[in-house]
Amino acid sequence: MLEIKENVPLAPMTTFEISGTARFLVEVRTEDELLEAIRWAREHSVPFILLSGGSNVLVPEYLDALVIRIVGDETDVRGNTLDSWAGTNLFLLIRSLGAKGLGGWEKLAGIPGTIGGAVRGNAGAFGPEIKDFVISVRALNTQTLEFKEFSNMECDFSYRHSFFKDNPDWIVVRVRITLEPVEPEASAALANETIAEREKRHLQNVRAAGSYFMNPVAPANIVKMFEDEKQVKSRESRVPAGWLIEKVGMKGAVVGGAQASPQHPNYIVNTGNATAHEVLELAVRIKKAVKEKFDIDLKEEAAVFVNKF
Ligand SMILES: Cc1cc2nc3c(=O)[nH]c(=O)nc-3n(C[C@H](O)[C@H](O)[C@H](O)COP(=O)(O)OP(=O)(O)OC[C@H]3O[C@@H](n4cnc5c(N)ncnc54)[C@H](O)[C@@H]3O)c2cc1C
Repeated sequence: MLEIKENVPLAPMTTFEISGTARFLVEVRTEDELLEAIRWAREHSVPFILLSGGSNVLVPEYLDALVIRIVGDETDVRGNTLDSWAGTNLFLLIRSLGAKGLGGWEKLAGIPGTIGGAVRGNAGAFGPEIKDFVISVRALNTQTLEFKEFSNMECDFSYRHSFFKDNPDWIVVRVRITLEPVEPEASAALANETIAEREKRHLQNVRAAGSYFMNPVAPANIVKMFEDEKQVKSRESRVPAGWLIEKVGMKGAVVGGAQASPQHPNYIVNTGNATAHEVLELAVRIKKAVKEKFDIDLKEEAAVFVNKF
């Protein structure tokens, strides 16, 4: 029997830690519970929204909806293949499988959130992306309530993108990935190095949703300006959104309690009591400044839960 809670504060469930309240919230650990939650929402004529690790979302003050939170960590490992419930924490998976001698994905260590959330946004860091390890994904169509197995190709992965990002009617429920045999000590060391590198770059333990904007594809002259200045090759003609934000003088910019991080300007951080409105206002100002100076449209990476119902 599902426990539907009412008027639940969402700040503790998101890395932004911005206050917001869900009218209803339910936690689901299995496919059957997920189906039950969706049916409950239909029966009560309440829209529903999916939340997993809460590391890439900005919630408004009041969400007049049922928030379905995917939790739990059921996994099945056979040979080099992991079959995991979508709600399993990605970092814990990297650690626990590394200890069992399976790895190759340690550069993803430290990306907060679940493996399902990682698939939806094709999360990546320092080169590798989750798509490099995915064999297949099981997903639920919330309109028809039918399940389907998607091959890696059908997931349509690209930079911070998947089929599921474009098609929110589909919920990722299980992820099958392939790993390689590794020495447990080597895996732990590599994961630790990755975390240390992330901490050095101020990418960890901040009240934010990670990179707020995606790195945009830029015209050749801007790519060249970036490459000459930083002495690194651009990937897919993209330039870091953080570099553009710094170039337009918005590094450290503040709106209320929201700030474009002085260390990593593409992180909008909650410095204390930021509201969702302040974060959105800062994002608008950053976009405007980048558009005016570079004629580039920044696009949000973080999902904004708006009350469109
Ligand atoms: C400090 C910090 C550092 C970060 N560093 C990185 C990084 O290096 N690289 C990177 O790629 N990202 C990074 N992120 C962003 C974030 O961790 C990833 O986007 C993560 O994969 C989101 O997973 P989640 O479970 O937290 O998703 P949530 O934040 O809960 O959800 C994000 C969106 O995905 C949808 N969603 C969630 N689960 C599912 C599902 N099972 N099926 C379908 N849709 C779903 C939600 O409805 C929502 O729209 C960082 C975030 C923070 C806070």
